[in-house]
Amino acid sequence: MLLTPATFIPLIQPEAHDRARTFVFHRGELLLRNATLGLPDPDTVAALWLPPERVHPLGKWEGAYYQLAWLDQPLALDGEHGYHGLRSLFGAVDDGFLGLAGRAFQLAEWARTHRYCGACGTPTRQLTGERCYQCPNCGMSAYPRISPAMMVLIRKGDSVLLAMHTNSPARRYTALAGFLEAGESIEEAIHREVYEEVGLRVHNLRYFGSQSWPFPHSLMIAYTADYLDGEIRVDQAEIADARWFGPDDEWPASPVTVSIAAKLLNAHRPTR
Ligand SMILES: [Zn+2]
Repeated sequence: MLLTPATFIPLIQPEAHDRARTFVFHRGELLLRNATLGLPDPDTVAALWLPPERVHPLGKWEGAYYQLAWLDQPLALDGEHGYHGLRSLFGAVDDGFLGLAGRAFQLAEWARTHRYCGACGTPTRQLTGERCYQCPNCGMSAYPRISPAMMVLIRKGDSVLLAMHTNSPARRYTALAGFLEAGESIEEAIHREVYEEVGLRVHNLRYFGSQSWPFPHSLMIAYTADYLDGEIRVDQAEIADARWFGPDDEWPASPVTVSIAAKLLNAHRPTR
């Protein structure tokens, strides 16, 4: 699953280091060596002349110091290197590395999008010892944005409800999911989304797990719930189809294995 490795030590302040490993992003894509999908070597990064204010510490992992930076232009496109979307790396790179890349991407986006105060337009300053850009004029503070989203697998006897979202590129059935609205608890969001998307009511909400999902800055919070009442009535703007899958049905293939959606579905998949 896409998670930061347990042995990773996050750093907010830079530390003295030798030959840092650098995640360089341009418009959401990561600079990698095309042949190995590994980070560029330090000499390649040095040749980019990254402005110091665009370089942020990430942390330490397996004896190496990691940092991140972002670029306006896709530099270092020399045939050996290219910019790769994080989704294209699913299953192609080590999960721990992907977890670090997801974390680095969210910090790079925070740094890229908070150079100016959103309230008064003044250039911001980064506070020492915090992931915070602050406006010297009006005091507005900007921390990395994290957007909570709920995911819920609804159970009814030995069946579960799976839905195909209208915007699902893979046309795949999976658990319901949706972003929280301002003022909502996770539980309120689950009840609202379930009713809006498939017309059902649920109860017995149980926490399943959570996952940072860097597309671009979601926190997926997964639950199970039991069916209470109602007939399936899909919101066709969001859901193409929703139905119950039991032990005798042909279940959909697993979603991308790095996602908590896959873990949630596979935890309930019938064994044959
Ligand atoms: Zn301001």
